[in-house]
Amino acid sequence: MKPAAFDYVAPGTVDEAVAALAGAGERASILAGGQSLILEMHYRRARPDLVVDINRVRGLDRLRVDGGALHAGALVRHEAFEAFESPRVAPGPLGRLLSLVVVNIAHPPIRALGTMAGSLAWAHPAAEWCAVAVALDAGIELRGPGGTRVVGAGDYFHGPHRTARLPQEMITAVRLPLLDDVTGVAFAEHRRTHASFAQLAAVVTLTVLDGVITEARVGLANAADRPVRAHAAERSLVGSSPLDDDLFGRAGRIAAERDAAPIARPYADVEYQRQVIAVLVGRALRQAYADHGGARR
Ligand SMILES: Cc1cc2nc3c(=O)[nH]c(=O)nc-3n(C[C@H](O)[C@H](O)[C@H](O)COP(=O)(O)OP(=O)(O)OC[C@H]3O[C@@H](n4cnc5c(N)ncnc54)[C@H](O)[C@@H]3O)c2cc1C
Repeated sequence: MKPAAFDYVAPGTVDEAVAALAGAGERASILAGGQSLILEMHYRRARPDLVVDINRVRGLDRLRVDGGALHAGALVRHEAFEAFESPRVAPGPLGRLLSLVVVNIAHPPIRALGTMAGSLAWAHPAAEWCAVAVALDAGIELRGPGGTRVVGAGDYFHGPHRTARLPQEMITAVRLPLLDDVTGVAFAEHRRTHASFAQLAAVVTLTVLDGVITEARVGLANAADRPVRAHAAERSLVGSSPLDDDLFGRAGRIAAERDAAPIARPYADVEYQRQVIAVLVGRALRQAYADHGGARR
């Protein structure tokens, strides 16, 4: 099917883009990479009256480190995060985590166009970047007619494709906190084919000092109607030795039973999904510990 008729503007600045959105409100959609929007328009599930194409807005394609965070502008494409540990992406464990995650998103042509900000705006519960955002408590920078505000990922996701973003606001950047050098990172995903959306996925960071876990972050994709931060699993880890018997397996089961709220799918009932979540979280925690240096420290 072809999209329904729509008007099109291609502003050159963020202010012009925000003014265009303010004029049309809920009837306008921003076009970033187009890897979700164009599909939705073809299916006519999205029928914007106005498409605001931000691809000519200068400066939005910048990745920069500032104030302890990586700022990814709204036009930074998925593929920008592929360079393993490249200082151009982000130093240390954060860069490593982003490069581990990104190769799980779709396939190269989609990663060349799709954006991290677009993914957070689209807020698909299975999206890998959304799980990363909740795990790291990323800040989502929103610009509207009244100025800029930053919403933490914990308050940002309200449900499938529903967020704290107001119709007249655009995401200008995503702020990801840098992780310190003693943090191990890992990602584990279960999916049907290489380029499929995640059926379930776990993002993990683990900080260990003097043989004790001082911080654990666990984010889950597709384990509820929105990305989930597995707080109960995290609490079960902090203060323990990573060498404690079955610590990681137990945390996986806690994430599955207490943090996740899986939705029955045609391909997997809730019980099966809980089993997969437990396995993925346990596996990612073991990998994060190995990434951190494991028994060497
Ligand atoms: C075959 C296929 C497989 C895919 N597999 C995966 C996958 O495995 N994992 C995954 O996470 N994604 C997957 N995707 C989606 C892909 O990652 C998209 O790129 C992403 O969801 C949206 O980013 P975009 O830049 O293309 O946004 P667009 O498609 O341009 O926009 C998506 C939505 O977000 C809004 N929007 C975009 N940017 C902004 C902004 N700056 N401010 C406010 N609103 C904005 C748009 O108005 C629209 O509603 C897949 C897509 C396809 C076609």
